Amino acid sequence: MKSVVITGATSGIGMATALELSARGFQIIGTARTTEGAEKLAAAAAERGVELHTILLDVTDPDSCRTAMADITDMTDGGPWALVNNAGIAVPGAFEDVCENDAWAVLETNLLGTARMTRLALPAMRRRGEGRIVQMSSVAGLVAMPLNGWYCAGKHALEALTDALRREIAGSGVHVSLIEPGFIDTPMLTDGLRHLPAHTRYETAYAAMRRLVARRGPLGPEVVARTVAKALTAPVPRRRYGIGHEAALGR
Ligand code: NDP
Repeated sequence: MKSVVITGATSGIGMATALELSARGFQIIGTARTTEGAEKLAAAAAERGVELHTILLDVTDPDSCRTAMADITDMTDGGPWALVNNAGIAVPGAFEDVCENDAWAVLETNLLGTARMTRLALPAMRRRGEGRIVQMSSVAGLVAMPLNGWYCAGKHALEALTDALRREIAGSGVHVSLIEPGFIDTPMLTDGLRHLPAHTRYETAYAAMRRLVARRGPLGPEVVARTVAKALTAPVPRRRYGIGHEAALGR
């Protein structure tokens, strides 16, 4: 059975992906930051009638990443066959409205966290001469959207790092793909819109952004889960998989 690690599997796209891949017969290890999150994932799996393992992981903590990968190596045949780097946060807001701590947290989670886990998973995949890495990017990794600059910066950097890595590991048997969703109906999108900064010069623009998302009707996380499944089951996966870009760009 092929093993797949999915980071940030307690919610939204990560949880939908864990359930989808488990139902398709993969050995799933879903990561959670807290025991409550792990229990939530386990309960969702039980409700769906599928099996998966959970482990604790905070991708912003290098020790947590190392410990988690050591545990994963024990649970799998020397290391996971695939890694889905899904864990992420968004702090929407204009460049002038997002404080430095929040900006750093976005980059630390979405860029450095993903890089850390990729570096830990790669050696076993290289030794085996086989493996898949799936990076959860975004349409925001391709287009710099106003009012979401820090998130876009992290995802743009992730796209660049991944494209460089792909060329470096060409011929190794390890494939790396980028998933680039538009608006997806998850807590990230809905909470982000609820907690936009208040009392700033950008309030009219924030209201327009809320209207755009409401008008466009976000897709469900299952669409992304099925796309991840495509990247893991294709004999040779595509470099990038775009989902719902037109709606997210207001076209
Ligand atoms: P959710 O907020 O629903 O889920 C995010 C997941 O990431 C949660 O499981 C969360 O865990 C986990 N997470 C956050 N920080 C960390 C951390 N430091 N270490 C480990 N896990 C962490 O968001 P989505 O499902 O929407 O997002 C998943 C991915 O999809 C992200 O990378 C996001 O950028 C990307 N994406 C989302 C889009 C959307 O419109 N929703 C569009 C394009 C891309 P916890 O439960 O502990 O908070």
